[in-house]
Amino acid sequence: MNYLKDNLLEINKRIDEAAKRVGRNREDITLIAVSKTVEADIMNASIDAGVTDLGENRVQEIQRKYDDVKKGVKWHLIGHLQRNKVKYIINKVDLIHSVDSFRLAKEISERALKADKIMDILVQVDIAKEDSKFGVDESKVEDLIREILTLSNIKVKGLMFIAPFVDDPEEVRVYFRGMKSLFDRIKETIEDDKLEMEHLSMGMTNDFEVAIEEGATLLRVGTGIYGKRSYL
Ligand SMILES: *Cc1c(COP(=O)(O)O)cnc(C)c1O
Repeated sequence: MNYLKDNLLEINKRIDEAAKRVGRNREDITLIAVSKTVEADIMNASIDAGVTDLGENRVQEIQRKYDDVKKGVKWHLIGHLQRNKVKYIINKVDLIHSVDSFRLAKEISERALKADKIMDILVQVDIAKEDSKFGVDESKVEDLIREILTLSNIKVKGLMFIAPFVDDPEEVRVYFRGMKSLFDRIKETIEDDKLEMEHLSMGMTNDFEVAIEEGATLLRVGTGIYGKRSYL
């Protein structure tokens, strides 16, 4: 499974170069290896090759693979989360990227309270205004965050964005830039113990360099690390 090492080397080189181009610290950028549809043995090989953070988009997949994956990595839930599934991942994941409603946040907070923990979350924003079903409209993000901050067992750590898939990543730069200014605005205007604007989760295999140039701190890269596979 040498390809994992090679792929990670190549992606990390491109991350370094993109960060350097805009004068950013490499340490402020974390590569999340999106391991959906990848089996636990391959995930473990990627951990041996240097992966520190794993991203999954389905709760069932986390449940199925969790015990077989080496300890010490961080798990990120990056896909849509249904309220009735929160209980299955509350003790497994370190960061939930896809919170887009108060009802979901409330369920997360209640489950976190029962588990005696504080759950870190990101608010997913639909800044590209696609007909995508998920993500909150840009105009509603601040109000949603203020509402979420009334909950006891949640910490809001930033924002997440899934760009539309395009051939030329320059086409989505405008959205990444919009996300960064929304991020900065929230950081400046909302003050709360439970708000720590630290993370801007954006950039995938096809567009992560542009995302870095525009301020991403969490990159979600699947294909570039594990290779092409058919997504469910
Ligand atoms: C699959 C997925 C990714 C990774 O996509 P690649 O193009 O394979 O890098 C990133 N974010 C989310 C939310 C995903 O579902």
